[in-house]
Amino acid sequence: MTTNLPVTTGHQLGRRSWAEPWKIKMVEPLRITTTAERERALADAGYNTFLLRSEDVYIDLLTDSGTNAMSDRQWAGLMLGDEAYAGSRSFYELEQTVREVYGYRYVLPTHQGRGAEHLISRVAIRPGQFVPGNMYFTTTRAHQELAGGIFEDVVIDAAHDPEDEHPFKGDVDISKLERLITREGADNVAYVSLAGTVNMAGGQPVSMACVRDLRALCNRHRIRLLLDATRMVENAFFIQEREPGYADKTIAEILKEFCSYTDGAWMSAKKDALVNIGGWLALNDEELFEAARNLVVVFEGLHTYGGLAGRDMQAMAIGITESVQEDHIRARIGQVRYLGDLLAAADVPVVRPIGGHAVFLDARRFYPHLSQEVFPAQTLAAELYLDSGVRGMERGIVSAGRDPATGEHHHPSLELTRLAIPRRVYTQAHMDIVAEAVQAVYDKRHSAKGLIMTYEPRYLRFFQARFDRL
Ligand SMILES: *Cc1c(COP(=O)(O)O)cnc(C)c1O
Repeated sequence: MTTNLPVTTGHQLGRRSWAEPWKIKMVEPLRITTTAERERALADAGYNTFLLRSEDVYIDLLTDSGTNAMSDRQWAGLMLGDEAYAGSRSFYELEQTVREVYGYRYVLPTHQGRGAEHLISRVAIRPGQFVPGNMYFTTTRAHQELAGGIFEDVVIDAAHDPEDEHPFKGDVDISKLERLITREGADNVAYVSLAGTVNMAGGQPVSMACVRDLRALCNRHRIRLLLDATRMVENAFFIQEREPGYADKTIAEILKEFCSYTDGAWMSAKKDALVNIGGWLALNDEELFEAARNLVVVFEGLHTYGGLAGRDMQAMAIGITESVQEDHIRARIGQVRYLGDLLAAADVPVVRPIGGHAVFLDARRFYPHLSQEVFPAQTLAAELYLDSGVRGMERGIVSAGRDPATGEHHHPSLELTRLAIPRRVYTQAHMDIVAEAVQAVYDKRHSAKGLIMTYEPRYLRFFQARFDRL
């Protein structure tokens, strides 16, 4: 199935303001709760916003993952999905779309991003090898470590400073990477793990110049360069906006050029690709691909469905096509920036520049009287929910987890509360409500006392940990 969407270029973006390039066809009512109800819901959830029931949430900014609104064309695609166990037509359409839009040769569907991370980590990491990355992502690092890899952060220092206005805070510090290669030897580096728009740094992009330099370095040392393409479309927008020479290129051209410098990618289609479930792994190396394609039958499903229904692959293929439309991405990032600018104008401490998928509140500056040991970002997420039913999430010491070797907490320099904006779901008026809620919590910041962790799961603790009030 093809979708006849208009192709626009950067030239057409000169108008004064952005607006959503869609209108609303179906609505889902929201429930507004009382303070007493939220007080009870929060205590039941152990002060962890991941453990709240969504029916107790008013505006849900927990994540932009799988929370996207699909288009009428995608819903139509669900009906056209081919549910054959083997050789589904929907798989071939997905494969074709990934090849065209991202440019990789071989494609495997997976149930979501971490399914692809699991496969690539198993086939590309030998136990004891290093995996340098531009800041860690929770599930990415977890799979790299489960495969015996040792993660090392090689992002530029500016990424760790929430007030630094560097336009490409996701860039790799090439000298840090070279030092690692010299220290450990190229053979002890599994691959370079590069993520487009670095979530943990505040949704910050990687420049084209950086990926080109990385390609050259990896060629010299015969090391693979693999991309976490989850939010790479959003990254392409920032390159178009900020990097010399790209203002007149389309998002689709920039995306494909960026990917062309890498050897493969894994994807959580629940983000950029505008679906509610799905992912893929795509590689250019046939041998590596065959190893992954063999493992997919053990962990996901046959290689032509990878744990997905045919309809999911159909909707994903259409979503990928929509995700690279200029008007879509401009409105998407415009809405994130609108909320960020409202908060910045009210002097609420936020990570600068405003990133691609979320506004990150800087909990260290929000609650300067709270030490990291009492979980300021977790506290802020809880207080925000209590105030207004707006749900965000912690991206700080809880998310960072413990060092597998020493058992000590990682102490990330960034202690953030993330307000992630689902794609095509909320209106500008909802963003006004969120900004007012954050300001209300900021006004009473001095009374916050922090939290104590009462239950700590072994893996990815931020999802299921429980807390109590201090
Ligand atoms: C969400 C995400 C993943 C994991 O994908 P899931 O679909 O949640 O399994 C990996 N990397 C990044 C950057 C992500 O945002």
